[in-house]
Amino acid sequence: MKRARKKAAKKAATAKRKRTVPRKRAAGKTARPRTRRAAKPRGLMFVLSSPSGAGKTTLTRMLLEDESKNVELSVSVTTRAKRASEIEGRHYFFIDRPRYDEMVKKGELLEWAEVHGNGYGTPKKPVEASLRTGKDVLFDIDWQGTLQLYAAARADVVSVFVLPPSAHALRERLARRAEDNQEVVDRRLRNAIEELEHWREYDYILVNDDLDRAYRALKAILSAERARRGGGGKAERKLAEKMRRDAQPELAELVKKIQAEL
Ligand code: ADP
Ligand code: 5GP
Repeated sequence: MKRARKKAAKKAATAKRKRTVPRKRAAGKTARPRTRRAAKPRGLMFVLSSPSGAGKTTLTRMLLEDESKNVELSVSVTTRAKRASEIEGRHYFFIDRPRYDEMVKKGELLEWAEVHGNGYGTPKKPVEASLRTGKDVLFDIDWQGTLQLYAAARADVVSVFVLPPSAHALRERLARRAEDNQEVVDRRLRNAIEELEHWREYDYILVNDDLDRAYRALKAILSAERARRGGGGKAERKLAEKMRRDAQPELAELVKKIQAEL
C-alpha cells in the first residue's frame, strides 16, 4: 500500500514537470498560455558634463525632482572638501585620499579621474544594481569619466555637454554661487579652457542660456533616448534631434569664442 502511494506520487511529480498545457486550460477554462516574463530592459547611463559653473548641478537637480521614480543619481566619492551647502551621501561621499586609493585599487569604482586637483569616482555597485532593475542613472562627471563609461558600455551611454552662453556668464555664475574661494574659482576657470576642448565627444550639446529652455531640451533628450529604446513621444524626439552635436555646427565658433575670452 505504502509502495503504491509512493509510485502514484512519483507519477504525479513527473506529469507536473512535463505539463505543457496551462493549468486552468487543462481544467476546462480559457487562460493565457504561460510565458516567460520579458526581461526588463537595462536602464541607460545619462551623463552630464560641463565646465564648472555652466549649470549641470542645477539641471541635474531639476531632472531628479521631476523624474525621481525613474532616474537615480549616481553619488560619487570625492577627496575634495565639502562645501557648506553639501550633504554627505547626497551630493558626494567625502572620503580621504587613502580610502580613495583603496577603492581604485580594489576595483570598486566604475570610473575615476583627477579633476581640479582632487580625486573623483563613481562607486560601481549602486550603478549596476539600478541599471539591472531598469532604472536610468544620471551621472554628473567630467569628460575623462565619460570616456571611461564609453569604453565600458557605449551603447548604454547617452551624453550631454552643457555649455555656458559666454565666458562672462560662466565667470558670473561661479562668482554668484559663492561656494568656493577665489583661488578655487580661478583654477576652475583656467581648467574650463581645456574641458571645453572635449565638447565634440558628446552626443548632445546644450547651451544653458535660459534655464527653463535648457531644462526642457534636457528632458526632451531623455525622453527621445528612452523612445529609441521603446516608448516616448514625437515632439520630444524632434526637439532632441536639434540638440545633437552634428545638428549644431555653429557651436564650434561659440566654443572658440568662450575659450579666447577665458
Ligand atoms: P555646475 O554644476 O556646472 O558647476 P551649477 O549648477 O552649480 O554649475 O550652477 C552655477 C551657478 O549658476 C548657480 O548659482 C546656478 O544657480 C546658476 N545657474 C545655473 N544655470 C543658470 C542659468 N541658465 N542662468 C543663470 N544662472 C544659472
Ligand atoms: P565639483 O567639485 O564642482 O562638484 O565637481 C568638479 C568636477 O568633477 C565636475 O566637472 C564634475 O562633473 C566632476 N565629477 C564629479 N564627480 C565625478 C566622478 O565621479 N567622476 C568624474 N570623472 N568626474 C566627476
